[in-house]
Amino acid sequence: MISISKKVDRIEESQTIAMTSLARKLRSEGKDVISLSAGEPDFPTPENIKLAAIKAIQNNFTKYTQNEGTPELREAVAEKFRFENGLDVTASNILISSGGKHSIYNALQAICDPGDEVIIPSPYWVSFPEMVKLVDAVPVILQTKEENGFTFTDENIKPLLTKKTKALIINSPSNPTGSILDEKILRGIARLAGQHNFFVISDEIYEKIIYDGHRHFSIGSIPEIRDRVITISGVSKAYSMTGWRIGFMAANEEIIKSAAKIQSQMTSNPSSVSQAAALEAIRGTQDEIEKMRLAFQKRRDLLLDRLSQINGLNTAKPAGAFYFFPSIKKFFGKGPNGTALNNSLDIAHYLLAEAQVALVPGGAFGSDDHIRISYAYSEQELIEAADRISAALAKLT
Ligand code: PLP
Repeated sequence: MISISKKVDRIEESQTIAMTSLARKLRSEGKDVISLSAGEPDFPTPENIKLAAIKAIQNNFTKYTQNEGTPELREAVAEKFRFENGLDVTASNILISSGGKHSIYNALQAICDPGDEVIIPSPYWVSFPEMVKLVDAVPVILQTKEENGFTFTDENIKPLLTKKTKALIINSPSNPTGSILDEKILRGIARLAGQHNFFVISDEIYEKIIYDGHRHFSIGSIPEIRDRVITISGVSKAYSMTGWRIGFMAANEEIIKSAAKIQSQMTSNPSSVSQAAALEAIRGTQDEIEKMRLAFQKRRDLLLDRLSQINGLNTAKPAGAFYFFPSIKKFFGKGPNGTALNNSLDIAHYLLAEAQVALVPGGAFGSDDHIRISYAYSEQELIEAADRISAALAKLT
């Protein structure tokens, strides 16, 4: 028998990727499956960005770059963080990595020792607890409440603090809830982090996808704790560049040097061609971003209108990102042919079988009473999916 490490045994596979792969497989078998499972904008990468990549290839920009990322891209990212996010950073505070996910992993590797505790508000992005486990640290879950819009304050964090608390991971706008942590909440968290000396890893990958006049605020802009904040962002969601795999981290130089050391032994630099594309994304025209944001907002409103009409589905209006996270609790205990659906995985499987719609069970995000619906899909797919979900859930009431 092949012996696999115990660490791998303790890690869950990403449910988002698993559901998306299953939907893809069913479609390749000819099944009419609509997948609203992936966290991926459906728009093509903007033309100016693709052209910059083509030019990079033609100019033979196809070799290793500096491990930390090219000086031009690091400078452009520093400038972006200075002007858009109010961070006091220069290029030496920036590390470019292979996607936001890689940036978060590097950050955790750089600051955590075995047994350190990392506080993660739930519902959380599926990868946060698993990445914490991968670095031999311990995820400590902060349960938030739906009636508070899944937000929380420093008061909610206090009871979880111990001598081993190393960091808090925040994600605003949030995947999966779309909730936003406003400036007042973030100032409270910053105060607490300063008093208790823990790091804040602030995942701001959805910073450009915000609706209804809400404003994005970066906790790293608060001078008192700037050295304790690791800000994460990237081009995947904002510029529809998920496949290019470029993410970035802004942090104190010591942290950047440590994370860069880890990166140098793991992956080296992220793809040279993708870095050239990311440079154009950040420095070039930003017109496409606003078009995509408006399209997401239209889709959100369209789908919210449909989902709100489904009896028993409790759907809040998300302020950012591109997900709904409705409660499905009212359907528990019911099921087809005398069976009972008892959790989010049961509901997700039921909807896949009955409605041929793929969604991600909330259990993967820490809340088994919910299901995640991505609206990064065409209006036509969203309307058709909503009709199917509505018909399938009606059979349960
Ligand atoms: N952080 C959150 C909250 C996400 O939802 C995602 C992607 O789904 C990422 C980070 C990772 O982004 P990337 O594709 O750049 O690795």
